[in-house]
Amino acid sequence: MTVPRTPLTELERGTPFAARHIGPDAAAQAKMLAQVGYGSLDELTAAAVPEAIRSAEALRLPDAASESEALAELRALAGRNQVAHSMIGLGYHGTFTPPVILRNVLENPAWYTAYTPYQPEISQGRLEALLNFQTVVADLTGLPTAGASLLDEGTAAAEAMALARRVGKVRDGVFLVDADCLPQTIEVVRTRAEPTGVEVVVADLDAGVPAEVAERGVFGVLLQYPGASGAVRDHRAVIERAHELGAVVAVAADLLALTLLTSPGDLGADIAVGSSQRFGVPMGFGGPHAGYMSVRDAYARSLPGRLVGVSRDAEGRPAYRLALQTREQHIRREKATSNICTAQVLLAVMAGMYAVHHGPDGLAAIARRTHRYAALLAAGLRAGGVEVVHDAFFDTVTARVPGRAAEIAEAARAAGVNLRETDADHLGIACDETTGRAQLAAVWGAFGLDADAARIEGLDAETPDALPATLLRDDEYLTHPVFHRHRSETSMLRYLRRLADRDYALDRGMIPLGSCTMKLNATAEMEPITWPEFAGLHPFAPAEQAEGFLTLIRELEDRLAEITGYDRVSLQPNAGSQGELAGLLAVRAYHRANGEPGRTVCLIPSSAHGTNAASAVMAGMRVVVVATGENGDVDAVDLRAKIDRHRDELAVLMVTYPSTHGVFEEDIAAICAAVHEAGGQVYVDGANLNALVGLARPGHFGADVSHLNLHKTFCIPHGGGGPGVGPVAVRAHLAPYLPGHPLQPAAGPEGGGIGPIAAAPWGSAGILPISWAYLRLMGADGLRRATQVAVLGANYVAKRLEPHYPVLYTGPGGLVAHECVIDVRPLTKATGVTVDDIAKRLIDYGFHAPTMSFPVAGTLMIEPTESEDLPELDRFCEAMIAIRAEIDRVGTGEWPKDDNPLRNAPHTAEQLTGDWPHPYSRAEAAFPADGDRQDKYWPPVRRIDGAFGDRNLVCSCPPVADYAG
Ligand SMILES: *Cc1c(COP(=O)(O)O)cnc(C)c1O
Repeated sequence: MTVPRTPLTELERGTPFAARHIGPDAAAQAKMLAQVGYGSLDELTAAAVPEAIRSAEALRLPDAASESEALAELRALAGRNQVAHSMIGLGYHGTFTPPVILRNVLENPAWYTAYTPYQPEISQGRLEALLNFQTVVADLTGLPTAGASLLDEGTAAAEAMALARRVGKVRDGVFLVDADCLPQTIEVVRTRAEPTGVEVVVADLDAGVPAEVAERGVFGVLLQYPGASGAVRDHRAVIERAHELGAVVAVAADLLALTLLTSPGDLGADIAVGSSQRFGVPMGFGGPHAGYMSVRDAYARSLPGRLVGVSRDAEGRPAYRLALQTREQHIRREKATSNICTAQVLLAVMAGMYAVHHGPDGLAAIARRTHRYAALLAAGLRAGGVEVVHDAFFDTVTARVPGRAAEIAEAARAAGVNLRETDADHLGIACDETTGRAQLAAVWGAFGLDADAARIEGLDAETPDALPATLLRDDEYLTHPVFHRHRSETSMLRYLRRLADRDYALDRGMIPLGSCTMKLNATAEMEPITWPEFAGLHPFAPAEQAEGFLTLIRELEDRLAEITGYDRVSLQPNAGSQGELAGLLAVRAYHRANGEPGRTVCLIPSSAHGTNAASAVMAGMRVVVVATGENGDVDAVDLRAKIDRHRDELAVLMVTYPSTHGVFEEDIAAICAAVHEAGGQVYVDGANLNALVGLARPGHFGADVSHLNLHKTFCIPHGGGGPGVGPVAVRAHLAPYLPGHPLQPAAGPEGGGIGPIAAAPWGSAGILPISWAYLRLMGADGLRRATQVAVLGANYVAKRLEPHYPVLYTGPGGLVAHECVIDVRPLTKATGVTVDDIAKRLIDYGFHAPTMSFPVAGTLMIEPTESEDLPELDRFCEAMIAIRAEIDRVGTGEWPKDDNPLRNAPHTAEQLTGDWPHPYSRAEAAFPADGDRQDKYWPPVRRIDGAFGDRNLVCSCPPVADYAG
């Protein structure tokens, strides 16, 4: 008798990663399919996805790898990067991420899997962390209102230009930029200025505002402090002159330098912008890092991006929430202050925590040490006869070496140090927190000077600081107790834990957010991002040091092109909104190149995400809204009428597919054809690609351009509202108009395309290994299966909820795509219970709410994703069904409209242990569902009154006394 055996090849294969990424196993899928009424996944998707767009061939991707194989491949790629000591500067600096922050924030799913804090009651931890960040920025820049992060320094400067134009007194005129601004900042500003008709003038403002520029009118001025050259200049006179001309002045400032230097606010600036990267966030070959902006009081309500503020909850206690949401793109659309949606929350949290960890004295000590190295470096160069260009500098020394820059930089590289080759005659050398004596010796050696580190003591004794006495800061900053309390690691660790515990993230349960695809962010995908070979590279390091990174980038671009059916992909845009802008600028450039500059109309369905309209305006287009039909589809009659009416000026139709209503529209291919026939282009917003991967390709069913959201479909975690990556994908005719980069031509098309859309050549390169790993782990079959299960999950939830809440829109076969919109309006009308009440009540049941009131007010949009297993899907459905029963008890009058578990939700432990005047029990309040008694999530605050906080705007850490009563 032979013993049965399993063939070795089968054993070797093990459990495929896809089976871990996809929540429901085969048995669960069968149950779900039975509920939905289909026999197999293929049958379901054949019924749901219109024939006209389905792609027949399988994706050509490498076969799925196991976790250990994928990590080994990533190790090999990492090994092909060379981590030199980069002293290039230009806004990117070496920094030590405190290990307590590295492990407990950056590597901690409680922080990185959180969603944007739109539900503030379950986001108090990250909201406090962001308030810390805002306080750091406000204090150091000397301007009272700071936002909760922008995308990077270059785009923050461009946002400052837009703000100056919005709020300033001068209506026309130019935007004047000092020549010593970071070169990439200047180019990002130019990219953004051109389509909106703003002229950028770059001039050396050290000598004042040139008379001929003053005559033309100046609405805004941008200065760098310290300058790109390293020079620390007193900007007071030029700021005063700019104000005489009626201009708004923005200063791009280095936060570390500001611990020692007079703040931009004290110099007279109206706006400060910059990067918080060197506050403990790795360079990551360009990002992600949190850009910042702070403004004087008068501009607080015009600030772009999100702003955390203090308000109060139903108990009257202080509580945090996002303030002034009404100015944001998703409400104001083409009238928004900016198109920013996803920002850089996780990195802002890190930077804020870096300040909490070090405190003001620790930060100043790091700054003094950094400065001291720079001063000694300069002294050593001067002693060796090398000309140092500036007398006053903070961390960066510019050396004049006629004709020798390349040769010295080469020698430095050989010694493991990267310098900035400003031009043939100048080198820039930036010191930072990680600089040591060895680096000074290496740099001197490269200049052919005595490289003996022992000289340093002698130099130190005789070299004064190089900071101008008139610019030394003497005011206090970071006086709030939070920046003084956590010097011991025990205290810091507990502070981080305490804040994380206040929040609900994917590590606790499902976040069923429509349009945002809160799927698994697998640990294997996350691991590589903190490896030094990926985290430690400067974005302007020589390409030969980044061979592994560049290979990974090229492979990711190619694979995304294969998945989407487009010809070329640029990974530079660092959020979906930025991909939108890049894509629309490509369309604009294409029409102009064809001699049709008059094509400026952008058709956008009324159901579109708010960023679409905001981006169109930024791209210099005119938004024409297309109606939505009863069934949620784009109204074909209205669309055709608008195409006809704007035939000669039609630039582009911008649609989301599947639609924001969560359905596959049947005639998308015909719509694309009609737009093309009129000479327009088709932009498909790819935020919903999770319903298409492996089933259909926008580039094949008629679209010309899309952005993708790698932080939705391709597993980059949401980070509590960023980071993100928003690649722009185009067909070949638009490829010449992709983003480029002034310092890295290889990052874009020949000729530089539309210019840079972000500060770094490959945007937030540091997190690209996550999406690369996802594709490598899933393979073509796994990706297709994931999409099918995502569609199955949404239809399963829709079917289970349908008897209790009407599903607003369905497509072919009565099916939805990967998300479903349920209508609460009839219930609200009958009972007074609102979507807000349901969202807050879900907290008591242990859930994050679905998307509220988008795309239709009074509805909830649910996207379960493929990663939630059947028990969690059922737990959610049962919670929603139980809530429906509660609504009925309000409807019948059993519970008063103004005193019921829905209206009073969420319930805190404190509330439950106090007086209890309510007509329902404490158990009904806190434990409405069976089975979660031990694992109950307790919200730290009761329902928050947002309007109160908007009327009484407080956007930095409030005095502790405020919390007492
Ligand atoms: C998320 C989203 C965007 C914006 O993407 P960000 O990365 O947040 O800038 C645009 N359109 C749709 C439909 C989205 O869901």
